Amino acid sequence: MQILVATPHGMCSGVARALRIAAKALEDAPGETLWCYHKLVHNEHVVNDLRARGARFVDDLAEIPEGARVLFSAHGVSPAVRAQAAARNLRVIDATCPFVAKVHAEARAYAARGLPIALVGHKGHDEILGVLGEAPDRIRVVETPQDAQTLRDDFPEAREVALLSQTTVSQAMVEARLADLRAVGLEPFLPDRRDICTATQERQDAVRDLAAQADRILVLGSVTSSNSKRLVEVAENAGCPATLIAHPDDLDAHDLSGVRTLGLTSGASTPEPLLHALLARLGAPPPPSA
Ligand code: SF4
Repeated sequence: MQILVATPHGMCSGVARALRIAAKALEDAPGETLWCYHKLVHNEHVVNDLRARGARFVDDLAEIPEGARVLFSAHGVSPAVRAQAAARNLRVIDATCPFVAKVHAEARAYAARGLPIALVGHKGHDEILGVLGEAPDRIRVVETPQDAQTLRDDFPEAREVALLSQTTVSQAMVEARLADLRAVGLEPFLPDRRDICTATQERQDAVRDLAAQADRILVLGSVTSSNSKRLVEVAENAGCPATLIAHPDDLDAHDLSGVRTLGLTSGASTPEPLLHALLARLGAPPPPSA
């Protein structure tokens, strides 16, 4: 079986930056718990490693002792969460990815102009919850065609609508929701620099190329990782069966008999050693860039 690895793949600059920030915080105060609001990144292997080094993860700031250090993840947080942290005198260490911070800034700017905002993305995702919190009265999360109609109903006088998106969705999803908004009589417009981040776009482009060469693709990434799930979708939309695999040990559960060319890629929060372990299980060397 020939094995091809997508280029680029794996950990993005935003996740690597968040991990560097966490590592420095742990080194700066040995023995002091580093409280992390939500999972720092959507990869359980990375999270377990940080936990072993003194990090604790919570989904509610009320669980953190007053005055303690709290790390905000690459996915960003809402202004309400920042206010809650200030009220509890928490010492904030902010690992929000600059690409996510850009979407927050756009949301504030469009809301200040009084525009309704369609936020294309997945309801309940940490990044979406953070951006939504910038202007909950002006922003509606648009994940489905029905959501476009809901936005239309909520802003019956509106003609223009700003369209923002989660950084890790696919361009196909943005275009589909753009069409849905037009279909309900709205005129959506996008910011000059689009919100899908460079890392997401490059990894999706690479897996699309891989789909043209492989007859099966495995995406190494957590089931909670939005960008990893999008890689599966992009590969399948390009005509190649694709499967998300959380760990190299899970390989046995997948029947690769009959596969002549196997494509591999990994999500933006997947550590490179995990991909190397998967390649080793397949009897292949690490990719040349390693
Ligand atoms: S996927 Fe993009 S937005 Fe998310 S952390 Fe990585 S670089 Fe930042």
